[in-house]
Amino acid sequence: MRLCRFPDQRIGLVDGEHVRDVTAALASLSAQRYPFPAHDVFIENLPGLRAVIADAAQSAPALPLDEVRLQSPVANAGKVVAAPVNYKKHLDEARADAEIHHQNRIAEIQNVGLFLKATSSIVGPADGIAVRHPDRRTDHEIELAAIIGRRADRVSRKDALDHVAGYCIGFDITVRGPEERSLRKSIDSYTVLGPWLVTADEIGNPSGLDLHLSVNGETRQKANTRDLLIDVPALIEWASSYYTLMPGDVLLTGTPEGVGPIRPGDVLDATIEKIGHMRVAVRAA
Ligand code: MN
Repeated sequence: MRLCRFPDQRIGLVDGEHVRDVTAALASLSAQRYPFPAHDVFIENLPGLRAVIADAAQSAPALPLDEVRLQSPVANAGKVVAAPVNYKKHLDEARADAEIHHQNRIAEIQNVGLFLKATSSIVGPADGIAVRHPDRRTDHEIELAAIIGRRADRVSRKDALDHVAGYCIGFDITVRGPEERSLRKSIDSYTVLGPWLVTADEIGNPSGLDLHLSVNGETRQKANTRDLLIDVPALIEWASSYYTLMPGDVLLTGTPEGVGPIRPGDVLDATIEKIGHMRVAVRAA
């Protein structure tokens, strides 16, 4: 199942080149009162909603996909957990390029640990990326994003994938510089999620997926998730050994080699196998 979000608070089931508006399925969620849950209630309830969504799609009009403004498929992420330098060749390029490492010690991920990005940085492909510090180098990073579906507190690698609702393409846009990653990567619009959430059953094993990113038609990043140093189940085991992962939490699994600068006016095209393609425009903030 491929689920998207679009204005105004609509949920869509992606069906080939069309989107079926299945927002009516949200009516079966229980009403929430203050203090509202700090996680994503739609994603939490997705297992039970699937039949309702499929039903609603039967009678929903088909909107042309290319006319739908795709927003982040996750509305209420509680946190964005991200893996730094999780591909060997990206580790090598980061260590070799002073503009990337900025005298920061680029250590292996096992020593650095994971970092968190502000959820206020999340946007969808139609929102685009708004560059805030045009005087500084700002880079693209394409990453496989796993969306947590079930509360995960100290789960083992063996059980980890049972806690994933689905996957999408993620951009971890980054200002290069000496500051902490959480500052440089948390600027508004610097976490792009899209084009939709593909439920985990359609992906199966998240290792072995081709990733591709081009800027203005020129290939920049081309890799495969089988080359992750720490794979998705191990990332979930590791993250959940420190904090509980909740439905809607986003896990950015790290970017492969080929990172490079983006500027206002650029157009990014990203594809991940079994997920799809998204186009994202870059503008000045
Ligand atoms: Mn990254």
